[in-house]
Amino acid sequence: MTDDQPPGPTGAADAVLPAEAVVDLDAVAANTSVLRERAGGADVMAVVKADGYGHGLVPSALAALSGGATWLGVAHLAEGLALRAAGVTAPVLAWLVVPGQDLTAAVAADVDVSASAPWAVEALAAAARRTGCAARVHLKVDTGLSRGGATADDWPDLVRAAATAQADGSLEVVGLWSHLASADDPAQDGLTRRQVERLAEAAEVAARSGVRPPLRHLANSAGVLAHPATHLDLVRPGVAVYGVSPAPGRASAAGLGLVPAMTLRARLALVKHVGAGEGVSYGHTHTTAAPTRLALVPLGYGDGLPRHASGGGPVQVRGRRYAVAGRVCMDQVVLDLGDDDAARAVRAGDEVEVFGTGAGGGPTAQDWADAAGTIAYEVVTRIGARVPRRYVGALADQGVPAAAR
Ligand SMILES: *Cc1c(COP(=O)(O)O)cnc(C)c1O
Repeated sequence: MTDDQPPGPTGAADAVLPAEAVVDLDAVAANTSVLRERAGGADVMAVVKADGYGHGLVPSALAALSGGATWLGVAHLAEGLALRAAGVTAPVLAWLVVPGQDLTAAVAADVDVSASAPWAVEALAAAARRTGCAARVHLKVDTGLSRGGATADDWPDLVRAAATAQADGSLEVVGLWSHLASADDPAQDGLTRRQVERLAEAAEVAARSGVRPPLRHLANSAGVLAHPATHLDLVRPGVAVYGVSPAPGRASAAGLGLVPAMTLRARLALVKHVGAGEGVSYGHTHTTAAPTRLALVPLGYGDGLPRHASGGGPVQVRGRRYAVAGRVCMDQVVLDLGDDDAARAVRAGDEVEVFGTGAGGGPTAQDWADAAGTIAYEVVTRIGARVPRRYVGALADQGVPAAAR
């Protein structure tokens, strides 16, 4: 039997959507200014890779710049070029290139590129000769993450290649940098200290080859918030810009003065009565214990909700939290509301909150991460393109995202 009550919203002027991600650009700006304060004298490079961790590349970038960031960081060249195409003139660093990739557009657009090996330096110098502008490079040293960056053994060769290209004017070495492995984990603070020392040692080696760039940078969000020794000249916070704690074991977002910028909302597509003993969703991993109401939320793993949060992901309905009943499907999840007065008040069309700021006891991306055994970074970043973004806040009213999209 379907819900016999008429659905909630009728005749709304705004388009009624099954789901949307509301992004508060003022929160992005405010979080950036908190990070800037925490970074002491260091400049802030707001990391906006992966579509601004799912929040929108250009709107996030503009909001972060208005909050005091002076640099933007991205993984891919295409992300840096998209910022330039949107009219962003702030310095941009892109750190993930592969051999054979055409770097000409990046050099022409004044996008700084990271080099972890001599081939990257040579490719940048070649692109510089083609465009007639010097390429701006940040040399990356591996100080302990064992991901990007030259090892201490390979570092002298990288520095020598850069010194040669710099001498002939095709290259400008702007920075020396590295990335932290475990700054979120208090049990590994010794490693963070060693990474600071290894970057300093790499800078000495570079200086002996005459490479003395103006910038050294190391800190991610957790470095900014927990390790002042990592701040150096420039910090590269990502997840904290969006109001998500990089280290929930150290401090919550609220405890850090950060406001989660993304709120994921949906409208219930259906509310219906079912009896006791009914299996719910694929595989019947949930069974109704008593006569109850089931509510259908039009979001699933196709929208980025983690399937690992089956049976656990929280959704706020009329001020009450319910865990997803049974499996997360591609497009939908089911809530088992029970049959009390609160459940009986729930209507198809009601707006529900999947995650947001946590105000009023609502669920957060961190709660979804906990339910899925992952990190909140992944939860917000994977909210997919099928979910429309709506930008709010004074910055949005000033047309920031309009310029951006
Ligand atoms: C993603 C990334 C960052 C930002 O990390 P957060 O933990 O989100 O602050 C900084 N630097 C590099 C190289 C990255 O890949």
